[in-house]
This record gives sequence, structure tokens and C-alpha cells, in this order.
Amino acid sequence: MRLVRTIAEVRAAVGGAGTIGLVPTMGAFHDGHRSLFRAARGECDLVVASLFVNPTQFESGRDLDAYPRDEAADARVAEAAGVDVVFAPPGAELYPDGFQTWVDVEQLAATLEGAHRPRHFRGVATICLKLFNIVRPQRAYFGQKDAQQVAVVRRMVRDLNVDVELRVLPTVRDHDGLALSSRNARLSREERERALALPRALATKNAARARELLADLDVDYVEVADLDPKVLAAAVRVGETRLIDNVVLEEER
Ligand code: AMP
Repeated sequence: MRLVRTIAEVRAAVGGAGTIGLVPTMGAFHDGHRSLFRAARGECDLVVASLFVNPTQFESGRDLDAYPRDEAADARVAEAAGVDVVFAPPGAELYPDGFQTWVDVEQLAATLEGAHRPRHFRGVATICLKLFNIVRPQRAYFGQKDAQQVAVVRRMVRDLNVDVELRVLPTVRDHDGLALSSRNARLSREERERALALPRALATKNAARARELLADLDVDYVEVADLDPKVLAAAVRVGETRLIDNVVLEEER
């Protein structure tokens, strides 16, 4: 496995490869990331994982600073899961001085997560398009855990005629039902107990019932979202940690 830091290096590393699979990530790898790596490994000749804590998708500097980072551990996980190239650029490589061009998926990015994090999906769509342009993958791998992110990226790919196939893998959960997330590490034991209300509420697949079960938590939203597929999605705050999760209500059309 190669760890590269510049756009020139990653372009050189993928040049001449057959089918390229890209897994965009922010690091702090867990089994959710592993499942994306393995799927890409099974379907592509060359697997690239990008590891970049994208500052433009964070609303606050505090949240950005608190995001877990462990590049050495991530490199080991990626290698074991069959990743060929890890692209871990410094911020200035992707956002050099003078950067001012954004991808804005207008309506979709204004609902649910976007209503609570107004610039989040602008950052997500922009970094994804940049990574697609840099790596030129035939396939890009995303988790259903971030259902609205998938919808935003899919819309962007269609609207801007990006030649990439999106592959979406099911949400990987811990033994207690909590969806794996890099943010889970921030939960105290007591907070984690309380956070379990989230998967339990969503498992009802009923928005009204889910709201009742989440009554003791600080809820940002619990809503049926007509994405593809349709989901019951929720975001809650447990202490300082904000968690999102969703369950699929209908199979993909
Ligand atoms: P992140 O590093 O959190 O930005 O996530 C990178 C990719 O992994 C995104 O496509 C996420 O949707 C996906 N992902 C994160 N957590 C999970 C999970 N528990 N199950 C499946 N995919 C996940």
C-alpha cells in the first residue's frame, strides 16, 4: 500500500490502472469503513482511500479540532483491508490560497442535516467532486449511514454529468445496535447507554413512535426522508456529541 500526499502523486499512482474504486473518508477507521474498502477491493483493480478531515464541511472549528485523527492506525487498517493507495493530503493541497469555487446542491442540501448544518453539504459536494476529478474513479463507495450525503452526491453526479458509479453499502452497527461512527469514541459510558435510544427508536420504523422513544434526548430532527431509498432519519445530541442514523423504510426503487 502507498501513502501519498499530493495530487500529482495520487494521479501518478492511479495512472494506467484498470477499474479504479475510490472510498472518500475522514479517517478514524472502523468496520463501516472496512466494509467499503472490502467492497471496493472485490469490484475494482485499484482501490484508493482518501483520508482528509474536510474543514469546509464542519460548522465549527471546535468540532473540526475535536475530530479523531490517527493516521498511522488508519494506514494499517486500510492496508489490511486491501486498499492500494491512501491519499492523505494537507489542507492546502485541496484548498490553496484563493480557493472560491463551490458545488451547491440547493434544495436537497437545505433539509434535514442541512437545516442544522447550513454549509455542511456544500463542503461535502465540493470535496467529493474534487476527489472525483483528482482520482477519476469508475466507482465511488459510500455508506448508507449518511443517507442524505449519498443523495446529495448522487444529485451532484447527475446534475454535473460526472462519470462515476456510486456504490452504497449498508450501515454497519456495533453489537448493541449503535451505528459505528468515528464520533462514538467521544461518548462516555453513560452517554453511550443513552445514545442507544437512537437505534432503538429508528428500529420502530415509525416517526411518531421514534419521537416518543427519543423524548429524553436533545433531538435535532426525526423525519421520514423521501430519499432513494426512503428512510426514517434522525439526529440527536448526547452531551457534546451529535449522532445521526437512519433506517431504510423501502427497498431501492
Ligand atoms: P467518514 O469517514 O465518517 O466521512 O465516512 C466515510 C464513509 O464511510 C462515508 O461514506 C460514510 O457513510 C461511511 N460510513 C461511516 N460510518 C459507517 C457505518 N457505520 N456503516 C457504513 N458506512 C459507514
